[in-house]
Amino acid sequence: MQAQSFDGIIIGSGQHGLVLGAYLAKAGLKVLLLERRLMYGGGLSTEEVTLPGFYHNLHSINHFNLTKTPWYADLGLDVKVPYITPRYEFAQPHKDGTALVFSRNLEETLSSIRRFSEKDAKTFQAWNEKAELMTKHIFLPERFSAPLSETERRALLEQSSIGREFLALTNMQPFDAVNTLFENERVKVLFLFKLSLFGTVLYEALNKPSPLGSTIRAFDLGAGYDLCQGGSWNLARGLMEVFIANGGTFVNQAEVERILVDGSRATGVELTDGRVFKAGQFVASTIDVHQTFERMIGREQLPAAYTEKIDKFHYTTWTLFGLHLALNEAPRYSSTDFDPHINQALKYNIGSETIETLLSAHKEVEHNRIPSDVQFGAGALTQLDPKQAPVGKHIAYAWHLFPYEPNGDRKVPQDVLEHFAEQIIERWSEYAPNMTKKNILGKYIYTADHYTQEFPNMRYGDIFMGALTEDQVLYNHFGYRTPIEGLYMAGSATHPNGAISGGSGYIVSSLIAKDLDIKPWWKPMDVREAVEHLA
Ligand SMILES: Cc1cc2nc3c(=O)[nH]c(=O)nc-3n(C[C@H](O)[C@H](O)[C@H](O)COP(=O)(O)OP(=O)(O)OC[C@H]3O[C@@H](n4cnc5c(N)ncnc54)[C@H](O)[C@@H]3O)c2cc1C
Repeated sequence: MQAQSFDGIIIGSGQHGLVLGAYLAKAGLKVLLLERRLMYGGGLSTEEVTLPGFYHNLHSINHFNLTKTPWYADLGLDVKVPYITPRYEFAQPHKDGTALVFSRNLEETLSSIRRFSEKDAKTFQAWNEKAELMTKHIFLPERFSAPLSETERRALLEQSSIGREFLALTNMQPFDAVNTLFENERVKVLFLFKLSLFGTVLYEALNKPSPLGSTIRAFDLGAGYDLCQGGSWNLARGLMEVFIANGGTFVNQAEVERILVDGSRATGVELTDGRVFKAGQFVASTIDVHQTFERMIGREQLPAAYTEKIDKFHYTTWTLFGLHLALNEAPRYSSTDFDPHINQALKYNIGSETIETLLSAHKEVEHNRIPSDVQFGAGALTQLDPKQAPVGKHIAYAWHLFPYEPNGDRKVPQDVLEHFAEQIIERWSEYAPNMTKKNILGKYIYTADHYTQEFPNMRYGDIFMGALTEDQVLYNHFGYRTPIEGLYMAGSATHPNGAISGGSGYIVSSLIAKDLDIKPWWKPMDVREAVEHLA
């Protein structure tokens, strides 16, 4: 039987594959999207894993500034996929019954900080103003444009005072910045928690300056996390609808084994079941670096400098232990009298009230030990979106740092996992007394051992598919074009890297359109224009 032919083939139907597919199908190309699993969406997954009607987001939950991404508007998702923008984004209950709550409203946030430190509230206010500007004019355009070279970026940023301040901040270590700017330990702790992407401190980046300048992001209140109504998978559904409506072809249970190369050009793919699909113009991989090049291409087809780059590419040294709960009642914190908004936040820092405890879990995980001092990121999404559980009932989750191979073994006995889950619930109940066994209708434990089997691209349990360290971000990212002509990398190894941003899929759509001489139907975002405008 003759192999089916397409203009382009995309490997992987996570956010990046779906965004890329939707743009290029809408540009008139005949696009095939291949997925090894039954269900599309990758880390946009929502499943009824505890009890029917309780929808648990096993991977991504907190989607940073999603409704302001260029593709959300370009692809008409504002109509298809409603999002909730929580007023209270971060909360930190304390054992003494007090709490810190960060609202999107500056005055509310300042009054919460003021209850702990007048000076810290003033600092926050002064930096908030700059942060909102930096996010709008630097962060966001940078996130959705191919990175500038280090030299060009520096020269452009140096032209404006806000750009110069931003550069100065990128030279500071985030940990030092927080310690220098704030005096109150609890404020520092919640700030460090906010600095993380979504609940785990970016430990590997904390003690090194990063060109991303993410410290500033924690001062920003306008650009924060959005919550996909009904569950994260709804975003995948909306993207798939656009892809299909524009003539795209989706094939599931299609695991790519090999990328076919003729001469030095990618010409198609072969699946593990022997099926072959041809690509006339391009193949784009949205999966990990090692699967793409070592498994699907083979080192022998690559120049030595490139295999060296592959060998240097590294992953995070921590994973996430997920505990998903079906509840009778939402958690009610003992600090409710102190601040009634505590029960309405999106993300909670539970159990670490000092910098020392916040970092202790990372230290233990670094040594492959299961953390002994239990402290975690959490949320009860039905407080913001009742659609995620049956009427009157609730869901909640906790994410705890966990080693990939505790004591050198990836297979953790079930009783050890159950014990760890119980410790989480116990700790939670110290802050929210109704988080008892009686309140829990169902429970599901989801660890790296589980998610790396479902998603082999999340190597070593790395939820980002590449550590977000200085040597792998912005102008040091893995790169979209490859030594194989017509083969593109469009996933989390490339700027703006892991987490739900759709950024790489969006940026690579423009690169492919340019290489194929197709006039884009959208207006690609341009960081040069945005930064020049600041001068
Ligand atoms: C527990 C957990 C919590 C997270 N929480 C958040 C959060 O709150 N916010 C956030 O922004 N991010 C979060 N993330 C990270 C986020 O899910 C990922 O960064 C994101 O899914 C990456 O998108 P992607 O398109 O690059 O890859 P993926 O979403 O992984 O999609 C890749 C797709 O490729 C498929 N595939 C793999 N190999 C093959 C093959 N050989 N052939 C065909 N198909 C293949 C996979 O099955 C998958 O569907 C979390 C991740 C985890 C694990």
